[in-house]
Amino acid sequence: MADSAYKIDITGIVQGVGFRPFIYRLAKKFELNGYVTNTLMGVHVYVEGAQHALDNFAKSIEPQSPNISSIEDMQILKVAPIGAKSFTIEKSEKLSGNEIFISPDLSTCADCKSDILDESNRRYRYPFTTCTYCGPRYSIIRDVPYDRSSTVMDEFTMCPACQSEYDDPNDRRYHSQPNACAVCGPKLSLYNTKDKACVQVGDGDYISLIADALKRGQIVALKGLGGYQLCCDASNSDALAALRERKHREAKPFAVMCKDVLAAQNHCHISPEETELLLSPHNPIVLMEKRKASTIADNVSSDNDYLGVMLPYTPIHILLMEIVDTLVMTSANISDMPIISDDEDAKANLADIADYILMHNRKIHRRVDDSVYKVTNELPQAIRRARGYAPGIVKADKLKTPILAVGAELKNTFAVSRGSNIFVSPHIGDLKYAQTYELFKQSIHEFKQLFGVSPKVVACDMHPGYLSTKWASESGHRVIKVQHHHAHLAATLLEYGIMDEPAIGFCMDGTGYGTDGAIWGCEAGIVSFKQFKRISHLGYFALPGGDICAKDVYRCGVSLINQAVGRVDANQYEFLQDIASQNIQVIQEMIEQNINTVPTSSMGRLFDGVSSIIGLGSSSLYEAGAAIRLESVADKSITDAYTVSLREYDGLHLWMWESMIGEILLDLEEKTPIGTISAKFHNSVIEYIIKMTQIISRQSGITKVALSGGVFNNSLISDRAEALLRGNGYEVYLQRTFPAGDGGLCIGQLIAANEVI
Ligand code: ZN
Ligand code: ZN
Ligand code: FE
Repeated sequence: MADSAYKIDITGIVQGVGFRPFIYRLAKKFELNGYVTNTLMGVHVYVEGAQHALDNFAKSIEPQSPNISSIEDMQILKVAPIGAKSFTIEKSEKLSGNEIFISPDLSTCADCKSDILDESNRRYRYPFTTCTYCGPRYSIIRDVPYDRSSTVMDEFTMCPACQSEYDDPNDRRYHSQPNACAVCGPKLSLYNTKDKACVQVGDGDYISLIADALKRGQIVALKGLGGYQLCCDASNSDALAALRERKHREAKPFAVMCKDVLAAQNHCHISPEETELLLSPHNPIVLMEKRKASTIADNVSSDNDYLGVMLPYTPIHILLMEIVDTLVMTSANISDMPIISDDEDAKANLADIADYILMHNRKIHRRVDDSVYKVTNELPQAIRRARGYAPGIVKADKLKTPILAVGAELKNTFAVSRGSNIFVSPHIGDLKYAQTYELFKQSIHEFKQLFGVSPKVVACDMHPGYLSTKWASESGHRVIKVQHHHAHLAATLLEYGIMDEPAIGFCMDGTGYGTDGAIWGCEAGIVSFKQFKRISHLGYFALPGGDICAKDVYRCGVSLINQAVGRVDANQYEFLQDIASQNIQVIQEMIEQNINTVPTSSMGRLFDGVSSIIGLGSSSLYEAGAAIRLESVADKSITDAYTVSLREYDGLHLWMWESMIGEILLDLEEKTPIGTISAKFHNSVIEYIIKMTQIISRQSGITKVALSGGVFNNSLISDRAEALLRGNGYEVYLQRTFPAGDGGLCIGQLIAANEVI
């Protein structure tokens, strides 16, 4: 009989990531008997044997666990030995209530990659090769626990060779739910959109066929992990122009796929941190500084210093990138609607865009877009979280009851809480599109089912016009409205575990509904989960026409000049040359007579206005386009700033930006290079942050500073603000794990709502 025995319960991302075979091998190594099983809570282990072996076993679990797993909690209980004769992997329990963490989809691992490139391997060139360490998860799971029968793979019966891998605890494919091979698994098919028919080639080598089409400049749609993607040769500007025209995507930058880091270095300057991000199993698109010598076509991402690059993450991509050079790779959707994931939808909607559609018969149960990251101050910063990251998990200790937080309207994500965990949805998108709104509703329903919760409290934004807010008010549940910038900053506090103390907070973004009905967007104050006390903001200016100003950015320019120096004479300003003087007249009357205008403190609109004033274009062709142009032209060697004047009014410190606009106009008159003007503008924003931090810190004694809002996706702002605040002795907390933009809002809504229940 064994000395002793342990029962060990492990929670976290421990299913579908090779955890049970890992435990099996570890138990064998320490000559322990017992069993391991998936439970609805995670993984349960029973081991018995010599006391020292048991302790060494327990100590080895966390450090040696598969690196794609993530242990949330491990409870060890000493029990009496039962006299087990061997170590076995037991079948999953079926209990009521879903208490499981679900692994995100993971990019093809190095071992699987070498399998498909090895002529002697039985999976040579097989496009659905996966193992317990890689491949689809979230996108194929219909229900929990994670077993083959609850995934879309239940349609395929494993052949004897696959089955024996699946049954062998020493095999890399032990209980790998998507396990398959060319004999038994999913197969590719190729649809020619001109002939409206499937293409038959003798040896079924569709990948070589589409590679040839891409080299000829054609556009191909392919079924990826979480949806269809459109691709074309990134060096072919005609192909790019055709893709832009057919997809109705005028100017928004495209991301590219490169074979490996070495190939990506032809196009971008890549730091070690960026390399690590590119090679991680999450495999996001990484925005990196473009090389001047890059051979990709200008119309991939014009007027932008950054290029989004990702590496191949499915066997289809790996095989394709063996034959072709850099490809533009973008979600297959129309404008900003949800990514297409259904084969019939693809045939119906992509026929006018793509020449070929590479399809297959493994269904996509859940759509997941590509994720987008960048590196600032040598650390990853999330911009969009979806494939490889979703569902996201945030730990929050003191949650009182399950809550659903429905997020913002643009770049929507939502979250549900259960116990001490917040589960965050992948990027849903712009709810103003009917299809995206449908996806939002359906995803909430599925999330509740998957995580086994039905929250009776719904947190949402205060904006009466947001569709997410409207949905919340019609949900029949208790609704708690959380101010936009409070939510942004509360999410940041939670990210850094600042639970019980307030911090100084700066939130800078495009649009957030304020408690006074104005559109806020450059707010500073003291924040905690419970409240946001506003102490300072950008002085209000008028948005003639409201939301349209984010697109027609010259309107912001007119409004800023109008307020700073007086009535705008169209002939006086170069940036208004292409705008009919009548339009400008109307805009000024709107401002003066307060017709269809809203007051705003939006930093996003200040960026837009300055961008247009210095001649970078009168409109934003995609979200934040004008601000991105402004960042791109900045001369980073310039450290000067414009005058940042603050005025105390009604207990609030207002940034009187008017003097800065005056100085910018003067600089323009003096033909100061726009790179200098842009840099001085950026530096002024940073100076405002430093000045206000000092004022608030002196008053309150607080030295922690939280930074959030989409403006902090601007590297120049986040890099310099972080460095300067640190240099001045403050602790800085920049939102990174979840997006600083509205994609991270739901987390803050949830934690703030929890305070007032
Ligand atoms: Zn693998
Ligand atoms: Zn097989
Ligand atoms: Fe926002």
